[in-house]
Amino acid sequence: MLTGLQIAVIGGDARQLEVIRKLSELDAKLSLIGFEQLDHVFTGVSKEKITEVDFTEIDAIILPITGTDSNGQVEMIFSAETVEITEEMLLKTPSHCTIYTGIKNAFLEEITKKVKRRLVMLFERDDVAIYNSIPTVEGTIMMAIQHTEFTIHGSTVAVLGLGRVGMSVARAFHHLGAKVKVGARKSEHLARITEMGLQPFHLNELDKEVRNIDICINTIPHLVVNAAVIQKMPTHTLIIDLASKPGGTDFRYAEKRGIKALLAPSLPGIVAPKSAGQILGNVLAQLLEDDVMKRKEKFI
Ligand code: NAP
Repeated sequence: MLTGLQIAVIGGDARQLEVIRKLSELDAKLSLIGFEQLDHVFTGVSKEKITEVDFTEIDAIILPITGTDSNGQVEMIFSAETVEITEEMLLKTPSHCTIYTGIKNAFLEEITKKVKRRLVMLFERDDVAIYNSIPTVEGTIMMAIQHTEFTIHGSTVAVLGLGRVGMSVARAFHHLGAKVKVGARKSEHLARITEMGLQPFHLNELDKEVRNIDICINTIPHLVVNAAVIQKMPTHTLIIDLASKPGGTDFRYAEKRGIKALLAPSLPGIVAPKSAGQILGNVLAQLLEDDVMKRKEKFI
């Protein structure tokens, strides 16, 4: 249980609603900032303006998956308010206050280091990334269906990267009957691709491997699908870039060549906000409970 814990949830999309539900079920006291357009009322939860929050009482701050922009501004889907995370705000919090966000962000890393508060990036955790790959795969399948006029079954699909997302995507497209080849740079990844019954290739060979593909799904957050690679693709190829912004594709060149290339961020929040929110809510609940336990042990 999270009884007695005071948490500020600042901004975010529909996924945060599941987080709020889970934490309020566990009896945490929640201050919601950036949710005034939300009709649903949870028990033990108050909607507040950022200026009304008493940060000296806050044990944890939960930010959206994307954290903030480079100036500290938080994305608000349920509010017209603009909120910026500031040094002054964080300095008021107790020293044990932890800031939870989804992905890495230079602004948050810098500011939390400066004020000596702990920053937890949920998507750096393997469990969150693997669970989250499930709705990501479903969103990728949806995009492939929406943007092609051929079936996934029987098509040739190149998946780039065998990380947490790449592995799930490659397996799902294989089970849908696609001919899946996977590009990686580590020999253990090439071995795993072979073991999965898929066709492995080294990323050094990418420009040769794309000559016969129908769909290219990139999960590598670096410019790998560059102009030289795109130039070798058949013109009907669909590129779905799942890597975090700005993706790993030369979108300008793809457009110039008439190849459809789509940057597809935050698919879990689009196709399955409830499931994606539950993944985050469960992990956050566990982490907050662990924090409470650790603090209690300190005082025994
Ligand atoms: P991950 O487990 O870290 O996998 C990343 C993959 O990229 C690994 O196979 C890694 O291989 C490879 N890689 C990284 N840098 C490389 C480089 N310079 N050259 C070649 N290969 C490189 O990450 P993940 O959890 O699968 O997530 C992948 C991306 O998708 C991230 O950008 C993440 O933010 C994003 N994502 C997007 C969505 C969405 O909805 N679009 C959802 C979830 C995640 P090595 O091991 O060889 O480095």
